[in-house]
Parts: sequence; C-alpha cells; structure tokens
Amino acid sequence: MKFAIQSKGDDSSNTLMHRIKMYLLDFDLIYDEDQPDIVISVGGDGTLLYAFHRYSSRLDKTAFVGIHTGHLGFYADWVPEEIEKLVIAIAKTPFQVIEYPLLEVIIRYQNGGRESKYLALNESTVKNIEATLVMDVEIRGEHFERFRGDGLCVSTPSGSTAYNKALGGAIIHPSISAFQVTEMASINNRVFRTIGSPLVLPGHHTCMLKPVNQTDFHITIDHLTLLHKDVKSIQYRISDKKIRFARFRPFPFWKRVHDSFISDE
Ligand code: NAP
Repeated sequence: MKFAIQSKGDDSSNTLMHRIKMYLLDFDLIYDEDQPDIVISVGGDGTLLYAFHRYSSRLDKTAFVGIHTGHLGFYADWVPEEIEKLVIAIAKTPFQVIEYPLLEVIIRYQNGGRESKYLALNESTVKNIEATLVMDVEIRGEHFERFRGDGLCVSTPSGSTAYNKALGGAIIHPSISAFQVTEMASINNRVFRTIGSPLVLPGHHTCMLKPVNQTDFHITIDHLTLLHKDVKSIQYRISDKKIRFARFRPFPFWKRVHDSFISDE
C-alpha cells in the first residue's frame, strides 16, 4: 500500500509526521506523494481540508485519515498518543471506508460560456466586500428570493459543524445526502425580505445564485478565497464524487459533536 502524509507544518505536527513515516516504512509500506492509497493528515481539520484539495483529482483511489495535534477535530479524530495503534491498523488490517458528500460548485461567467468547477468539503461562501450582496436565489430552476445582506454560505453535511454552525445553521449527519444554505446578516424590513432560516436541500436539488447588478464576488471554497469577476451565476449541488475516510474504529459523528462542542469528559 502507498501512503502520503500531509502535515500542518508546525514543529509537533512535523515531528509526528516523521515518526509515522518511519513506522510505516518499517512495515514495508511505500511512501508516494503523487499516487497514495491513503493520506494521513497531521494537524487539524484545516490540514485535512488542505490534503483533500491536494488529492481531489483521485478521490476514488485515495482514503483519508486525520490525527489532531491541537484540539479534537471532525476530520482529525486520532490523538498523537494513538499513532502506534493507528500505524499497525493501517499496515495490517484492510480498512473500512466511510464516504461523505461533497459540494459541487460551478461558476459561470458573462463572457463566452466560460465556467470554473470546484469541489468543497466544508462549504462555499459568496460575499461582496465593497457593498451589500444582492443575489437572486433559484431552487430547482424556480425563483425563490432576492437576497440582500453580507453573504450566503452553502455547506456540506460534514461542513455543517464549521462556518455553517457559526451562522446558525443546523448540524447535519454526514450520512445524509443534502446541502444547506445559510444567510449572513440578511436585510429584512418592509421592503426587502428573505426567508431568514437556513434551508436544507436534498442531494438531487440545485441552488443557483444569480447576481442582480454586481458582477465581482469573493467566493470561498473551504479555506481558499478567490475574487471572481464577470460572474453570471453560481450553481450548487451535491457532487457525484465523495470523500472516502479510512475508519479503523467506531467514533460516531454525534459523539464527535458532543466531545467538540459540549464536553470531552
Ligand atoms: P481557520 O480560520 O484557520 O480555522 C477555522 C476553524 O474551523 C478551525 O478551528 C478549524 O479546525 C475549524 N474547522 C474546519 N473544518 C471544520 C469542520 N468541518 N467542523 C468543525 N470545525 C472545522 O481556517 P482553516 O483552518 O483554513 O479552515 C477553513 C474553514 O474555516 C472553512 O471551511 C470554514 O468552515 C471555517 N471558517 C469558519 C468561520 C466561522 O466559524 N466564523 C469563518 C471563516 C471560516 P482546526 O483547528 O482543527 O483546523
């Protein structure tokens, strides 16, 4: 089996990365940064987001596992004290794979049918830094509302515990094929109206954002922020692709939610 390791880059993550690499090489696994069967992320959830984007072109062939060197993560749920156990499990046992939904983002531009396609593991957000964001929101091709406010966040189930949660969105179990649209400070008065509540859409629906008179937006895909000019529409739906996590022991999602947000005692 071929493996790669993605480190957060700080001293403790790098030290752990070197130890894991030595152990796995001792078990005759092959270190291959280009075509790994398994990617071990050492750091936090942010590190796993980075690893996901690095290997997003081979999601059907690569599984991910995360170790946290800070606090418990949703994608990084192994602790450094467990690495011997994890290394033996990787080397000796065929691992179980758990798949989580991903968000497909298609940005179309005004000139000449050009488009950019992205995959997000957590979410995509749209903001207009200079002025109030004004977007027509369409669901399954039907006009739903004209949004005015700071921005919109469209998240995956596994991203529902990240930015989405800070915006008052619901936490969604990652076994559910769905995505969620949450508002950032919408303007609501006698003239302007938005739904105000987070919307949870099933996997086979699409949500399209169409600019009303602005064309340039800051669009995030997980940790990446890019300024997109001359935007005609932004289309969101659940991707046909999934991220695959290597599971070596049960760690139920709701326990991770409890331990992360309520108490780990
Ligand atoms: P960052 O600003 O350095 O870290 C954002 C925090 O979000 C970190 O504590 C990270 O955990 C945590 N996180 C990432 N994915 C998560 C998940 N699925 N569930 C729960 N927590 C999660 O940025 P970053 O490390 O590059 O991560 C980018 C992410 O930051 C974005 O995808 C977005 O979800 C999140 N974000 C959140 C807010 C907010 O809550 N107001 C604002 C902007 C962005 P680790 O410490 O384990 O890495």
